[in-house]
Amino acid sequence: MNLTERDKKVIWHPYTQMQTALPHIPIVRGEGTCVYDADEKKYIDAVSSWWVNIHGHAHPYIAQKVAEQLTKLEHVIFAGFTHEPAVELAERLLAILPPNQQKVFYSDNGSTAVEVAIKMCLQYWHNKGEQRTKILAFKNAYHGDTFGAMSVSGRSAFTAAFDSLLFEVEFIDLPDKDNIDSLKSQVSNLKSELACFIFEPLVQGSAGMIMYEAEYLNELISHCREEGVLTIDDEVFTGFGRTGKPFACNHLTEQPDIMCFSKGITGGTMAFGLTTCTQDIYDAFLSEDKLKTLFHGHSYTANPVACAASLASLDLFLAPGTTQNIQRIADSHAIFAEKIKLHHKIKNVRQTGTILAMEWETGNNTSYFSSLRDTLYKYFLDAGIIMRPLGNIIYILPPYCITDAELAYIYSKIEDALEAI
Ligand SMILES: *Cc1c(COP(=O)(O)O)cnc(C)c1O
Repeated sequence: MNLTERDKKVIWHPYTQMQTALPHIPIVRGEGTCVYDADEKKYIDAVSSWWVNIHGHAHPYIAQKVAEQLTKLEHVIFAGFTHEPAVELAERLLAILPPNQQKVFYSDNGSTAVEVAIKMCLQYWHNKGEQRTKILAFKNAYHGDTFGAMSVSGRSAFTAAFDSLLFEVEFIDLPDKDNIDSLKSQVSNLKSELACFIFEPLVQGSAGMIMYEAEYLNELISHCREEGVLTIDDEVFTGFGRTGKPFACNHLTEQPDIMCFSKGITGGTMAFGLTTCTQDIYDAFLSEDKLKTLFHGHSYTANPVACAASLASLDLFLAPGTTQNIQRIADSHAIFAEKIKLHHKIKNVRQTGTILAMEWETGNNTSYFSSLRDTLYKYFLDAGIIMRPLGNIIYILPPYCITDAELAYIYSKIEDALEAI
């Protein structure tokens, strides 16, 4: 039996209808922007393996730092104990985040980072003796797959089986110049019930790379602050350079109370997440009363190996070459976007930093589950490019080390697809 057959016998894959799925391709190794299958067929990872890989695959520097950490300390319980990688990572991260971010709470992935953020907000009000239990979020938001994270995400085909069990959330439209005043009054009307407002800054990734302007998000955050509503900036996707700046909040002048990170943090090496918050939120949990404790934690909280991978990834991220690469990708995307935006099969092209999204014209069949999605996926796979269209929307968000030649190849295959499909 080959690996694909052995896989089919024992494995259940994420987001996959196992009855109709294409055979899963066995990947043996990765290097730079590419991964290689058992026959040495090369695939350019145009989606950074679900948006996590920022420096390329099997990066030797991260590998070396992880290996060193593994021979020193693989893990230790993080209640009652601490370790150098956890403290150093918190220090270095807080130094580059907005100055109001003062404390780091570690967890395991993006969904847990969001769960922690929500619990911090809800218990903040509970500890202060105020009845504020409602949460405000954007329509079509995506904040993860666990129940709390799913609750603050838009209701869709993905949540349908659970909708009756999800807690109640007030969903508002994305802000723009026309609706910003009405959104602000919605916040004001609900303010005494609202615990917090959670948002994906500038780009709603899973919803289809939907982009909106920093200016109006700024106004909303500022208004929430005036009304005493806490704000959660979910940077799980946008953090670490994706939007052209280190963090999406760097496009804002108003700063959030809480931030969530995961995807790019270890450079795509391993699962990890963290939530940061202000001194004010942290202080609301300080008490002689043990009931005011934040009762949350995971077995692998602050895993030293994950911290070491994150520190190594941060070294690479802060190197001047990476900043240049991010700019190079953004410039290159802009030129290509200009070139294809008038193509009759392209309904819309949009870009934020290293993220380029193209909406395919489909007439009126735009469902995520349309066959166009599968056709496009297969087309690029055959061309040796990993793309995962979100319905009729294809997007490129590559590791920052992608070469100009690799980018040019991806663009040319998109142009070919526009003719062929
Ligand atoms: C992917 C994502 C999450 C969930 O992260 P996981 O690690 O997949 O649980 C949360 N928020 C945003 C904005 C994301 O893109």
